[in-house]
Amino acid sequence: MSITVQNVTKRFGAFVALDDVSVTCPAGELVALLGPSGSGKTTLLRVIAGLEVPDGGTVLFADDDITRHSARDRNVGFVFQHYALFRHMTVFENVAFGLRVRKWPEQRVKERVKELLHLVRLEEKAPLYPANLSGGQKQRIALVRALAPEPKLLLLDEPFGALDAKVRAELRDWLRRFHDELNVTSIFVTHDQEEAFEVADRVVVLNKGRIEQQGAPIEVFEHPANEFVMDFLGNVNKLPVRVEGGRALLGETGDVELPAKVFGASANGRTDAYIRPHELDISRTAEGGNCMLAKVVHINPAGSVVKVRLLAEDFGLMINVDIAPDRYRALALKPGESVFVTPKAAKIFEPDYAI
Ligand code: ADP
Ligand code: MG
Repeated sequence: MSITVQNVTKRFGAFVALDDVSVTCPAGELVALLGPSGSGKTTLLRVIAGLEVPDGGTVLFADDDITRHSARDRNVGFVFQHYALFRHMTVFENVAFGLRVRKWPEQRVKERVKELLHLVRLEEKAPLYPANLSGGQKQRIALVRALAPEPKLLLLDEPFGALDAKVRAELRDWLRRFHDELNVTSIFVTHDQEEAFEVADRVVVLNKGRIEQQGAPIEVFEHPANEFVMDFLGNVNKLPVRVEGGRALLGETGDVELPAKVFGASANGRTDAYIRPHELDISRTAEGGNCMLAKVVHINPAGSVVKVRLLAEDFGLMINVDIAPDRYRALALKPGESVFVTPKAAKIFEPDYAI
């Protein structure tokens, strides 16, 4: 079942929490809703779940306008950041809860709960209380509790936020598996962009109650719509440039030109250019001349790329560069050495005309 949010606005008093938001979640997709704290992510999920009534706009489940339907009628599974399991109920009763509310016959309840606990490998915990479970186990129970009544839509609000990195990664895999096996459409809130890019079929970036961009992870990563998205995705060098005659020049003397497309409106002036760490190269000699002299400050060789941090003193810039391990070994880099850094690509965003 697809979810369509059309021009939704939600105010709390004078404060606009959602400002003309339109989002599409195709049926069967796992969508990550991404944005800084306070950007309206929870509010948007609550509007979709029917826990908040929008001031304007519509919400469609497939082709049905359900904007005025109660939360009960929407058959949505909801998982919160803080496990929110019922403390006075056993694990079994927690998972059974939504089925009992819907008056499933006892035999079917037993079968369904058993099957779900088996899926998350927690059958032996059935008679225990939530207090006897670890954080990761509680969140697995919260996940199957939400899935028990066979919802068509699963909403998860920072479900792994309170867990450590390893458990988080495990739960991410569970989520992806359930999502695929149980044939649901899922919307999953996170403020962790790496998590979003790792599991989602589609990402939606929210900022101050507005959608900045939505699309496939690769699309958003390779073609960020604006400076906010570029900055938010993180791991990017932001370099001040002088634009002159359609060229983006670095530094006061302007002796390094960045290979960026320059928009007409900033034909002369100052702006920022964005360069991802893998879009810079390090060399021992000033190959091609269009490069910065920089001193190696720190090297992190632990990973599939080697992360090198450098100081380009002439430009007053700290620069992060990712190089392949082979290249790193060939260069035999050491902290304190001076090398040359060459930009291979750069991006400048079209200036915002709203004054
Ligand atoms: P996020 O989940 O992205 O952190 P929220 O959707 O929770 O953001 O909140 C967006 C903004 O709306 C925040 O500034 C928050 O303070 C405000 N807000 C959320 N719920 C309410 C409410 N019930 N009453 C007043 N303000 C609220
Ligand atoms: Mg929130």
